[in-house]
Amino acid sequence: MIVIKDIQEMQQWSTARKKEGKTIGFVPTMGYLHSGHLSLVKAARSKSDVSVVSSFVNPTQFAPNEDYDRYPRDFDRDKNLLETLGNDVLFFPDRNAMYPLDYETFVVTEKMATLWEGKTRPTHFRGVCTVVTKLMMIVQPDKMHMGQKDIQQCAILRRMIIDLNIPVELVIEPIIREIDGLAMSSRNVYLNPEERKAALVLSHSIFLAEQLIQQGEKDAQVIIAKMKSLIESEPLARLDYIALMNMDNLEPVSVIKSPLAIALAVYIGIIRLIDNVIIR
Ligand code: AMP
Repeated sequence: MIVIKDIQEMQQWSTARKKEGKTIGFVPTMGYLHSGHLSLVKAARSKSDVSVVSSFVNPTQFAPNEDYDRYPRDFDRDKNLLETLGNDVLFFPDRNAMYPLDYETFVVTEKMATLWEGKTRPTHFRGVCTVVTKLMMIVQPDKMHMGQKDIQQCAILRRMIIDLNIPVELVIEPIIREIDGLAMSSRNVYLNPEERKAALVLSHSIFLAEQLIQQGEKDAQVIIAKMKSLIESEPLARLDYIALMNMDNLEPVSVIKSPLAIALAVYIGIIRLIDNVIIR
């Protein structure tokens, strides 16, 4: 595996692979890799000729009160994990090269970025859309692999790729969970043992919703109320939102009709976690 830090060098590498007729699979990450990330890398390797993983903790998607500075980082560990998988390139750009002092340009989706996650994190998707656009211009992938774990991000980026006619196929991969059901996340390291147990309330309420729908429940409000009371029964948990939403435009649904996504964000202590399921 080669590590590329320079933006132009990354572009030149991709251009050379394209000239050879090779397809490029790309996995954007913020590093501190876990099995969820690695499943994306495996997918990229199986579906394209060469794979590129980026590791960049993107400052523009964090609000000033969020965890940019303390976001977990371990370059050597990530590099070893990617080497084991046979990944071709680890792109590790410098913050100042990505966003020089005179940086001006942002990519914004309008309404979709204001819903759900956007209510608590109003500038988040502006940062995500901007960095992913930049990374796609640099890496020039044929396919970009992202996790369903960030379901609103997937919907917004899919819209952005269509709207801006970007010639990249977005491939969404399933959520990888710990054995007890907790969705894997780099932020799980923040949880102390007590919080780690309490965090199961996210997956439990997702599974509860799935079960209610399987039993024939059609009323979104009934499902939301039952999920809410489960979350409220956990003293360390504080609900941010529960969304029963249309997967394309993220609008809330009132009557259950597949396909639909059920997503939620919950604070466990001060740690904010998300989870979701797609009902087909
Ligand atoms: P991050 O490093 O958190 O920005 O995540 C990079 C990519 O990994 C995103 O496409 C995430 O959706 C994906 N991802 C994060 N957690 C998981 C997981 N538990 N299962 C599958 N994909 C994940």
